[in-house]
Amino acid sequence: MSFNQSVLICDQVDAILNNILQKNGLQVTYEPQITKEELMQKIGNFDIIIVRSRTTITKELIEKATKCKILARVGVGLDNIDTEAAKAKNIRVINAVEGAMNAVAELVIGLMLGMAREIPRADRETRNGNWIKKELMGTELAGKYLGIVGLGNIGKRLGRLARALNMNIIGFDVIPIDPEFAKEVGLIKADLDTLLQSADYVSLHVPLLDSTKNMINAKRLGTMKKTAKIINTSRGGTVDEDALYEALKSGNLGGAALDVFEKEPATGNKLTTLPNFIATPHIGAQTKEAQSLAANVIAEKIIQILRGVL
Ligand code: NAD
Repeated sequence: MSFNQSVLICDQVDAILNNILQKNGLQVTYEPQITKEELMQKIGNFDIIIVRSRTTITKELIEKATKCKILARVGVGLDNIDTEAAKAKNIRVINAVEGAMNAVAELVIGLMLGMAREIPRADRETRNGNWIKKELMGTELAGKYLGIVGLGNIGKRLGRLARALNMNIIGFDVIPIDPEFAKEVGLIKADLDTLLQSADYVSLHVPLLDSTKNMINAKRLGTMKKTAKIINTSRGGTVDEDALYEALKSGNLGGAALDVFEKEPATGNKLTTLPNFIATPHIGAQTKEAQSLAANVIAEKIIQILRGVL
């Protein structure tokens, strides 16, 4: 079956997406540097619009997208698409939740190890000619309690990886937790406050909603172990950064690693001045494998929608 549809890809994506769509007869225009003004002029010519993170699809753009039937994000979050405006125009919005699961979960393991063994500091000091072996007495992940907040795709993948490292998994979600997963990792189910009080590491895997905004605040940070460490690879805004700064600076919290920030790029963020803090620039899904998987997933979803089976 060949589909006579025009597609505009607005951001840099894995070439596999273009290849699969073209093989199925779609006419693909690849403009990874397209500006908002250019997009305003061209968006009305396309049946399918594809973005990653650079392009934001606003209500204003959707008003002009008169032919558009599908809006696709080659990634997980839909923060850069006005989904309400799309719904009002009967435009299908699709994303690729499967793509980032393993990449983000592996990054969390890396950040936990980075904090447990002070890998960033060890590297920095060695490069600077300082052999600080005696100062670098680390801890191990095995036997520690990892609290996972949000047991969706990424939270569950992390649970499985961390279990393989012999960590104990505590979990909290607002919806029922997959029983098969719970059995597999020996999950200790807890409410959020019990999880925070008991865990050695806490990792967030929730969307940014009114109910999750600043869910890790000064009050909750105050209930955690002084040696505990927080990792956030979900969305900026779920952790109150001022409160986190105070907790880390005063020694009331052992450490933190953030991949996502209230304001990005987070260069110049005051957290980056603290020794017990690790920053990464929103690289959770930034692996070759995740990008290629997400591109494959989006291509397959588009073909299935056009075939009428999704
Ligand atoms: P998901 O939808 O599969 O899982 C999210 C889970 O959070 C759900 O089970 C949901 O019930 C739960 N949840 C919602 N509100 C909650 C609350 N108040 N308390 C506890 N749990 C709550 O999503 P996912 O694919 O696992 O992604 C998780 C997060 O990771 C999202 O915010 C996503 O945008 C983000 N993400 C970040 C990167 C990155 O580059 N760092 C990459 C991909 C995804």
